[in-house]
Amino acid sequence: MNAAGNIAEKPAYRERVTDYYAALAQSRDPVCDPIAAQFVPQTAEHRREPAETDDPLNDQGNEVLPRLIHRYHDRVLLLVTDRCATYCRHCFRRHFTAGGAGSIGPAQLASVRAYLDDHPEVVEVLLSGGDPLTLSDSEVEALLAALDDETAGYVLRVCTRVPVVMPSRVTPHLARLLGDRGGLWLVTQVNHPRELTAEFCEAARLLQRNGVPMLNQSVLLRGVNDKLETLSELFRGLARARVKPYYLFQADLAAGTSHFRVAIEDGLTLMRGLRRRLSGLSLPIYALDVPGAGSKLNLETALVRVEPRMYVLRDADGREHRYPRTQAR
Ligand code: SF4
Repeated sequence: MNAAGNIAEKPAYRERVTDYYAALAQSRDPVCDPIAAQFVPQTAEHRREPAETDDPLNDQGNEVLPRLIHRYHDRVLLLVTDRCATYCRHCFRRHFTAGGAGSIGPAQLASVRAYLDDHPEVVEVLLSGGDPLTLSDSEVEALLAALDDETAGYVLRVCTRVPVVMPSRVTPHLARLLGDRGGLWLVTQVNHPRELTAEFCEAARLLQRNGVPMLNQSVLLRGVNDKLETLSELFRGLARARVKPYYLFQADLAAGTSHFRVAIEDGLTLMRGLRRRLSGLSLPIYALDVPGAGSKLNLETALVRVEPRMYVLRDADGREHRYPRTQAR
């Protein structure tokens, strides 16, 4: 049992939290505190709903090279490291995150670059993991140098929670490294207004001063941000920090995360409330990744009907997809 008394057996997924992020929690009880909920394991993690899997987006089925996922026609995802500064309890990529794969090496990077040169249809390369900004500055530099030069016809999207859980890592040198790359966007994940600290805002300012545009992808999490007031404050605060709220993600069907999941019907009710309160600048897209759909679905337009056990969703090509309705408990 850990200090919070919340888990009686070995957690299925590693624990790690920065001192900075842990200090944002007002208690270590994940049931009561929206920050603690994101880093303190709960016994519910050991529960696996029938529809849940270890790899809910089928990364492994779309892997074209080790660590390189080519799911959508014009975008690829590169898992550059398995490490994160803090392991989020809601992480849907836990089959890779903290899995021991380590960081990408020069030979793998060269293979990835050759693949990209052979696939000019790729217009965006998402760098994720794990968290790319847990790499050292020299590793980040090598990564960017391998993937980004004047011949690269794609944009880089660095997906990182470092500004949220370890803003001190955003040093002037790192910000310059990232800003030196013309086609680079930084996408972070702020889930609760309490994460919008002076330190986060200073890290964001440093990145912005160095020319790094920032987007935010929140995950809709039960007990963390599933209230209209909380989401309104979060998205307004992000806009004030000049970080555009981009997506509000419906949580994927990752094993051991059912306690975080909000019903899509409830998410749509929240979005209706947000539309009445927020301008387009502060309003994200409520989105879901459905394997085989070709792109993320905007749930405000994609939901066709709700059946007793399934949602029926329509993708941009008009194809219908059945997506399990899981009962949040
Ligand atoms: S930072 Fe991202 S990859 Fe790492 S644990 Fe959190 S959600 Fe998962």
